[in-house]
Amino acid sequence: MPDYAKIKQELDGIAVEDHPALVKQKSRDFYWYSPILKEELDHVTGDLIVSPTSEAEVIRTLKVAYAHGVPVTPRGAGTGNYGQAMPLSGGIVLNLINMNTIKEIHPGRVICEPGIVIADLDKQTKAHSGQELRFHPSTAQTATIGGFVAGGSGGVGSITWGGLRDLGNILRLRVVTMEAEPRVLELSAWDLQKVSHAYGTNGIITEVEMPLAPAYDWVDVIVGYDDYMDAVRFADALSHRNGILLKEVAPIAAPIPYDYFTRHKPWLKEGQSVVVLMVAPHSLLSLIAYTEKMKGDLRFRSDTVESMKGIPHAYELAWNHTTLRALKVDPSITYLQVQYPGPDHVAKVAKMTEIFGDEVIGHLEFMRFDGQIQCSGLPLVRYTSKERLEEIIRIHEDNGCPIFNPHRYTLEEGGMKQTDETQLAFKKETDPKGLLNPGKMIAWDNPDFDFKAGKNYLFPGLQSFEGA
Ligand SMILES: Cc1cc2nc3c(=O)[nH]c(=O)nc-3n(C[C@H](O)[C@H](O)[C@H](O)COP(=O)(O)OP(=O)(O)OC[C@H]3O[C@@H](n4cnc5c(N)ncnc54)[C@H](O)[C@@H]3O)c2cc1C
Repeated sequence: MPDYAKIKQELDGIAVEDHPALVKQKSRDFYWYSPILKEELDHVTGDLIVSPTSEAEVIRTLKVAYAHGVPVTPRGAGTGNYGQAMPLSGGIVLNLINMNTIKEIHPGRVICEPGIVIADLDKQTKAHSGQELRFHPSTAQTATIGGFVAGGSGGVGSITWGGLRDLGNILRLRVVTMEAEPRVLELSAWDLQKVSHAYGTNGIITEVEMPLAPAYDWVDVIVGYDDYMDAVRFADALSHRNGILLKEVAPIAAPIPYDYFTRHKPWLKEGQSVVVLMVAPHSLLSLIAYTEKMKGDLRFRSDTVESMKGIPHAYELAWNHTTLRALKVDPSITYLQVQYPGPDHVAKVAKMTEIFGDEVIGHLEFMRFDGQIQCSGLPLVRYTSKERLEEIIRIHEDNGCPIFNPHRYTLEEGGMKQTDETQLAFKKETDPKGLLNPGKMIAWDNPDFDFKAGKNYLFPGLQSFEGA
């Protein structure tokens, strides 16, 4: 057991917290979305929360942790869904929320610390020069920019700009290594792939430079359809219109909208599926004209509502907020993350809808993917058992719809089910003792793990239920 009294002494001057209840609170994220992760990770907790306010304090913390052989798990706001920010082997949780200042704003880009909440970042760049992030997760009101870069993928705005993995959607990162003498590295262009979506397993991000786009007072619009596939076809056709500036396009199947979007219920019709949209004010009339042409039922426009007080942003109905709203009403619901590779993505969605009916309820996010309009899914699943969930996954994959499994805590199993050699090679350089966020990169822990054997990875260092 590491000598935490000594560690605290050596971190003198940096905010630390070791009250077990508070440590436990900061050792969780939204892992409980998954009934499987809930069972596996519920007992996980760190030993010490360290909250640096500067890069120099991050460096000091890593140096002390390295000397004591203590794991360090970085944390933004803890809104990740797969236990990404949970310290599987205990140790230090490095809470970056206090590193939250904007350093510079320029035409087309912003430089900031990693812990700034995304909505605050947008507010400040908008006030400064009418600019905003190209896209943000639906958790913008709580999530940090560093957590998004290290743990997220895309979001509101991806219909125009694609995702974080697209070259140019992150400009530069400063990263501190986990060594006896931590180094500060500056990464740009292809090198960014080493740490973006690496769950903080190979460096702590201390500065972020992101591209900006012109900011608008986006209008929320909800269009209804009696048939889900009509909603999907409308969303696909609309996303292909070159001239209509959209920030969000999400078809969501009945009964989700009427049953779970409680604040919007007065505008919704029972039994209808919807398309949740965000449109630039100057594109609104064109959108309405196109909706009429496509025989959509215009249910909601935020610009005509008397007061938006108490009504959430449209994007808080979409992405993983759809799942959250369903879980609030029916805790037995869970979800999947599905890809429907194009160009026949709409046909693939139709096939899955036909096979599963009400057991897997449709929710798609349209986005630009390698220059093409495509869709990914976050369908809700009426959960019955682990075995049935595995079967649902297999049926999707057998039909050419890969699953990014949100019921796994490792990078590989939640992604393409293969080693990311770039991230692994970088970890060898930056974290030789394997102390950063242990248990999240299978390739590091068990290079011989066979992803095709059909077995789940169980991290041997996962704390026992006794908290050993
Ligand atoms: C309701 C809901 C909706 C969501 N919608 C979206 C969405 O639209 N798009 C999307 O991509 N995701 C989405 N997510 C997932 C999550 O919100 C995003 O990934 C979010 O950006 C994470 O930010 P965070 O600050 O909470 O990060 P955390 O959850 O705290 O951390 C995420 C990962 O990054 C690591 N990390 C954090 N800070 C640093 C740092 N400075 N350096 C190195 N590593 C670091 C952590 O260790 C962890 O592995 C959603 C989640 C929920 C619960």
